[in-house]
Amino acid sequence: MIFRSLQYRIAVVFVGLLMLVMALMLAMVTGSNERIVAAEMAREISAGALVFKRLIEQNRRQLETAATVLSADFAFREAIATQDQPTIRSVLRNHGARIGAKVMLVINPAGQLIADTQRGDATTGSYPVPDLLAVAETQGTSSDFRQMRDGQLYQMVLVPIQAPRLIAWVGMGFPVDDRWAVDLSQMTGLTVSVVLHDDKSTALLASSLASSLDGARRQALPAKLQTLAHDAPKLLTFGDEHFQTLLLPLGQGTSVVLQRSLEQAEAPYRSIQTALYSIVMGAVALFVLGSILFSRRIAGPVNQLATVARCIQEGDYAQPVPSLPPDEIGQLAESLDRMRQGIAEREHKILKLAYEDPLTGLANRVRFLEAFNQHPKGSTAAVAVLDLDRFAMINDALGHPIGDRLLGIVGERLANIVAAPGLVARLWGDEFAFLLTGADETAAIRFAEQLHATLRAPFALDGQRLDVGGSLGIALCPQDGQDANTLLRRADLAMYLAKRKQIGFVLASGLGGDPPHEHLSLIGEMREALDRGEFVVHYQPKLDLATASIKSAEALLRWQHPAKGLLPPLSFIPFAEQTGFIREITPWLLEQVIAQAARWRADGLIIVPSINISARDLLNPELVDQVRRLTTAHKLPAAGICLEITESALMEDPALALDHLNQLAVYGTRMSIDDYGSGQASLAYLKTLPVHELKIDQTFIRSVIDSAKDAAIVNSTILLGHALGLEVVAEGAETAADLEWLRNSGCDEVQGYAIARPMPAAELPAWIAARGG
Ligand code: C2E
Ligand code: MG
Ligand code: MG
Repeated sequence: MIFRSLQYRIAVVFVGLLMLVMALMLAMVTGSNERIVAAEMAREISAGALVFKRLIEQNRRQLETAATVLSADFAFREAIATQDQPTIRSVLRNHGARIGAKVMLVINPAGQLIADTQRGDATTGSYPVPDLLAVAETQGTSSDFRQMRDGQLYQMVLVPIQAPRLIAWVGMGFPVDDRWAVDLSQMTGLTVSVVLHDDKSTALLASSLASSLDGARRQALPAKLQTLAHDAPKLLTFGDEHFQTLLLPLGQGTSVVLQRSLEQAEAPYRSIQTALYSIVMGAVALFVLGSILFSRRIAGPVNQLATVARCIQEGDYAQPVPSLPPDEIGQLAESLDRMRQGIAEREHKILKLAYEDPLTGLANRVRFLEAFNQHPKGSTAAVAVLDLDRFAMINDALGHPIGDRLLGIVGERLANIVAAPGLVARLWGDEFAFLLTGADETAAIRFAEQLHATLRAPFALDGQRLDVGGSLGIALCPQDGQDANTLLRRADLAMYLAKRKQIGFVLASGLGGDPPHEHLSLIGEMREALDRGEFVVHYQPKLDLATASIKSAEALLRWQHPAKGLLPPLSFIPFAEQTGFIREITPWLLEQVIAQAARWRADGLIIVPSINISARDLLNPELVDQVRRLTTAHKLPAAGICLEITESALMEDPALALDHLNQLAVYGTRMSIDDYGSGQASLAYLKTLPVHELKIDQTFIRSVIDSAKDAAIVNSTILLGHALGLEVVAEGAETAADLEWLRNSGCDEVQGYAIARPMPAAELPAWIAARGG
């Protein structure tokens, strides 16, 4: 990870570049040092060789001068002339001691020794180096390096003694020993060694005779020289030291070796180089430190910004951007901060748009579903749906702006009665949803009562007093469903029932257990069902008590679902009403039923079918036309069908509903008030309607035998209905006792399982024929 960090990379690039430059510089310096050392060595060796030759020459001259001085000594010449041996030897010794010559001798012109300090008194024999004498005889003097009898090498000089003719030769020899070598070494700055070798070639070099070298090197020298030629410098290695070596001929059978130590020559450069290395190391160390600090200064803020950017990515916009110096990174930080604020604002707006109902400021459906999903799975909760009553009427009468404002105020009141984490949302139009977390049935009922109490207080808008009521459906989690959509649908169905029955609120559990409609409530599915002819109409006969015959029957819709079997209308009609799809079902139903009645008439069976009309149908301006058109088309008299209308359908928009009812009455269609008694419509109000029939709600009929109170209500309703000129129908007679009781109470018609259950159209004629008309 660290290797990929900016800080690391900056440090590596800077230090790497520096090290490259330093390495190049060091390589250059080292290379040029080596060249300088090599040139210097070559120069030193050749200069040393020159100096060496001069010194040898100088020595020779000194010896010659000393010998010449001796040969000019009168007493000495006298002694030679007289063969005075003791004097000769004494003079030789004294003179030799004075000038440092170790060999002093006198030779007669014939080449025989007269005196020799090395031999003491025994002075017989010939001169040991006759070739030198031969040179001296031709050239006057001679000088060379010669190994003498004692094995020592000497620089020998031979000078004539003339008086005036040649009477003898005087020879002097200076030892070529280590001191000699050390002296010359000091003067030339080179090591000096003298080696003995074969006369003809430089090969087979013998051990060194004199040297300024120390023991070991001196020992090793002869062997190393085997490959060396005269006057050709070469680098020789001695252990870990190197010597530039020059071999010069010295005398017969001898050579001098001049050497310069490479390491010594390099020493001053080495110390410079060492200093340079230390400087480079110091510089690199400083640079490493500097670039780490520098890269940290850059990478530190960048890392801080990266942290903030990560927070933004994770949706945390609260993390402030650190304030940095106003350089490029500082500008980047500023931009990032502006970006952070911008994103935060935009997200806030987007969330508002996505989750808030703009009209009321309440949560919307999406937010509601999300809130529900956040509540722990399976824990108790209630989902309630409220639909305002007569809101359409208020909208139409007072205008949409007032309607919108009213929704806003209602929303505010509703928000006040729901405590967090519960939630109120506006689903659409005048429909609100409540999430009551932790609420069981009792709590939900208490909430419903509280809600109605809240709505009962009138709303004041522009000085107008508005009374707003609502119908509430409540679904409980987990009894009625586990997911939000199911619960909302169940609560919706319950709400529709509450609206139809005008009873304030209904619990979804009252709709019946585990209804299969839960997954059906999709318009698309219903539309397909309509196209595929899956909807079927069953007919439930109504018994005319006076004649004991069947003159009419109620058309009841069923859905022959391919997977779920025959579905009752309550499992899809409320949803169809709610979504408006009922407007497509009813015309189809009218066509089916009118056509069926016409076919029965053609067959001689006169049955007036009752068709259930929902609130939306009644408010549909095309309804009257449809009825007119269809009955005409099927040549059915206007009174050949009966339309059943519920009280609640009339309450939505009473004026419009009444207008349509009047048109239908003028045309001659029969009309019936369905489920009478379940709502709040008074008979006094019903009197104003152009209806012909009153259907008493089954809840009353079912208990006429058991409840004296219900029996009294039914009795008085029959009486009042008759008094208003209406035919009275009782529906939901399940037993023979019910039927008997109704017959005695003067009811006109009875519908119920006691007579027959709803049946397919095809079965009705046979059923009627079987009971004898
Ligand atoms: P509704 O108009 O009050 O119809 C009477 C309901 O009572 C029918 O239920 C019928 O089967 C049932 N019923 C009849 N006799 C008895 C009895 O002795 N005991 C009991 N317990 N029930 C009895 P269904 O067919 O389930 O219809 C329910 C409701 O659905 C109807 O109530 C009506 O409001 C609605 N509906 C049915 N068909 C249509 C339709 O084609 N259009 C519209 N808009 N609504 C329909
Ligand atoms: Mg009905
Ligand atoms: Mg009914």
